[in-house]
Amino acid sequence: MALQEKDHLEDHLAADRVAHGDHLTGTDINEHIGKVDFKMLVDEDKCTGCGLCEAFCPVEVFEMQEGNDGKRVPVAVGIEKCWGCETCTGQCPENALRLVGSADSSFLAGREKAQPLSQEKHDEYAEWASVLKDVLGLRWHVVGIHLLPKGAPVPDVPIPEERYRYCQSLMAARRGRSMMMPANRHACPDGTSILGLTPIPAKLASGELYILFHKLDSVEAAQRMVRERPMLEPRSIDATIVFPLDDAPVDPQVVAVIAKPEQVMWLCMAASYYTGHRFDFHASGYNAQCVETTLLPYSTGEPNISFGCYGCRASSDIGDEYMFMGIPVDMMPTVVKGLRELSKKAIPQSRDKIYLPPLKM
Ligand code: SF4
Ligand code: SF4
Repeated sequence: MALQEKDHLEDHLAADRVAHGDHLTGTDINEHIGKVDFKMLVDEDKCTGCGLCEAFCPVEVFEMQEGNDGKRVPVAVGIEKCWGCETCTGQCPENALRLVGSADSSFLAGREKAQPLSQEKHDEYAEWASVLKDVLGLRWHVVGIHLLPKGAPVPDVPIPEERYRYCQSLMAARRGRSMMMPANRHACPDGTSILGLTPIPAKLASGELYILFHKLDSVEAAQRMVRERPMLEPRSIDATIVFPLDDAPVDPQVVAVIAKPEQVMWLCMAASYYTGHRFDFHASGYNAQCVETTLLPYSTGEPNISFGCYGCRASSDIGDEYMFMGIPVDMMPTVVKGLRELSKKAIPQSRDKIYLPPLKM
């Protein structure tokens, strides 16, 4: 996008920017979610001064200023607000930016520790995971999700050194990794605001960033998309915890399955095996893992499916052929029981294609 075009867009958006509400600030980052110590290195020889980094940064870290040889270059005047989301580095056409630094790891230290999960519960969750994996033939681990409420005792789950997007952490859990991420280990301020770890940055609340990404046609459409998605109360959650369900360190609240459409179909049938209930799934292609796979099952008690979104597909190794299902933990005994019943006849017969018409020879 040319600078002129960007300036015009910013003029237009300034009028629509959400001017009030509980928005993410530098104070939040330093006082409420643990300090982050980043440095932004700008290669002025490579930089053309296009301003895309300034435009795309969700928390307005940059200001374009005059550089050494008189050209405009970005200066990270608000680096204390940086999330390490790497949107700026990803958008820079010249690869002129490099982010270095780390986050304070003491945020949850000193808090009361949670009791370890009982062996009985651990084994029950492992049994659920085994039924889903064996009956469906899943490629990946079934994932358990726990949103740690503010002030709750902290379970013994490793906090990663690196920052991840929430969707990236789910994808890592499907490969067998457990991790607990307070807000300062998250790399996506959209996900953290949706999941109640922080307030939302003004640039996301206004819809502005979605327009820059060409993901929606108008500010009105972007604001509607933001308005219609559920969000937890800001600062009501202290950390997200994800883990392979076969080795759960804490009770899951939601179980996530990364699977092919045929496998998700059997999960839907298992969920309605005893009632015949048809589900009204809520999917949009925006905020797939935080909203559709996690928050909807968490807050409604109903399962939900998702086709993934721009963010999770752009930032993880998930294959194009995979989709997602979030199942509230209270529904898991029904799903597991229903799946066992379906495995006796319906699943093998369907996979054997018993209704294929005979071929004309
Ligand atoms: S990493 Fe993200 S938050 Fe930090 S300066 Fe770049 S775009 Fe802004
Ligand atoms: S650092 Fe990259 S994106 Fe930012 S102004 Fe320079 S060339 Fe453009």
